[in-house]
Amino acid sequence: MANNIDQLIKKEKKRQKETLMMIPSENYTYPEVRKAVGSVLMHKYAEGDPGRRYYQGNEFVDSVERLAEERALKAFNLSEDKWHANVQPHSGCEANLAVYNAVLVVGDKIMSMFLPDGGHLSHGWHIGDRKVTLVSKIYDVNFYHVDSKTQVFDYSEIEKQARKVKPKLIITGGTAYPRDIDYKRMSEIAKKVGAYYMADIAHEAGLIAAGAMKSPFPYADFVTMTTHKTLRGPRGAIIICRKEFAEKIDRSIIPGIQGGPHLHSIAGIAIALGKVKSRKFRKYAQQVIKNAKTLSDSLKEKGYDIVSGGTDKHLVLIDLRNKNTNGWFAAWALEMAGIIVNRNTIPNDTGSPFYPSGLRLGTPAITARGMKEKQMEQIAEWIDWVIKHLGKRTIPEDNKKRSEELKKFRQEIEKDEFYKSIALQVKKLCKKFPTP
Ligand SMILES: *Cc1c(COP(=O)(O)O)cnc(C)c1O
Repeated sequence: MANNIDQLIKKEKKRQKETLMMIPSENYTYPEVRKAVGSVLMHKYAEGDPGRRYYQGNEFVDSVERLAEERALKAFNLSEDKWHANVQPHSGCEANLAVYNAVLVVGDKIMSMFLPDGGHLSHGWHIGDRKVTLVSKIYDVNFYHVDSKTQVFDYSEIEKQARKVKPKLIITGGTAYPRDIDYKRMSEIAKKVGAYYMADIAHEAGLIAAGAMKSPFPYADFVTMTTHKTLRGPRGAIIICRKEFAEKIDRSIIPGIQGGPHLHSIAGIAIALGKVKSRKFRKYAQQVIKNAKTLSDSLKEKGYDIVSGGTDKHLVLIDLRNKNTNGWFAAWALEMAGIIVNRNTIPNDTGSPFYPSGLRLGTPAITARGMKEKQMEQIAEWIDWVIKHLGKRTIPEDNKKRSEELKKFRQEIEKDEFYKSIALQVKKLCKKFPTP
């Protein structure tokens, strides 16, 4: 059996080398991070915080965790007198949950971004009375939207809503909002209505640390982030909070919602954080954004409808409705061509979450391979060819017909020589840009 897993890992490695990883939340980490995450640190239990553990034998792991905490603050130019970092959350969802658990009680009101407009499930998704997430079962979650015309936030509308709702916590951040967020304005709104303000920068953390995007510091009370997206570390998450919340946050993680910290991951996080102030990483972050802008411009030139008209970060969201297709068909066809993206809802989507109208593209991973503007233009061209070849497609309304027809579609594209020929060209390009 172990043998099988080994082979599957080899195959996955080959796939990652030979295709374009364009899911905005994915990235390649560094070999030294992979080594640390696979190290003996995974054998150690260390419930508690550095210097205050419930287990013995923490001489070295305490230093590992302290280093990660120090580097987390340094990455965002924060002083230890005013801010506190907790590097234990196992993932972004747990980091967010820990913040809610630290400062809210059951039934408290949260205001967060509407999921189909680009928000995140961990901010408490529910569809009317259908509570899809645990967070929406515990708290009273209200959503704010993007402006339906401009597809960006109208902060005066958000303020009006906040005055009406009177939430205890306001959250910004999401997975498919291509624009900068006015953190200062959002913190002012939170203050006016007496709410805490949490900025979830899961996607943007690396770009912000590198100074390529605006920072939520010092405006937010809590900032949560994942470490495996633009930060280029291993899977994990960090909470940074104002010093006065330090004890509440630490106790919220353990005993609140987690057990032992994943010290192997924390070591990998420390390594990745150690790189964000380097010239190389700053250049990388700037190039990620330049590449996304080039991708967006090239697609726009070819007649694609880009949500919000462009991007300020590492991701581009396309509304495919003017091309008479949707995200489901396009994402599968692109996979056949070696271009791995994801389907996504767009503001005011007329499709469903499973068959949404949008396509979400990201540049962090392909930029980590060294690709630049010229390659973005080439990729935009391939995407255009695939979508043209795909032609007009609609999801059948009838349930039974749907599964049959969609199955047929998948078989049809697997045999299609056109997609295969693009996949070959993609492979050639990938060879010139080795994965880190
Ligand atoms: C990715 C993401 C998360 C959750 O991260 P996981 O590590 O998958 O739990 C939370 N919030 C936002 C905005 C994200 O993009």
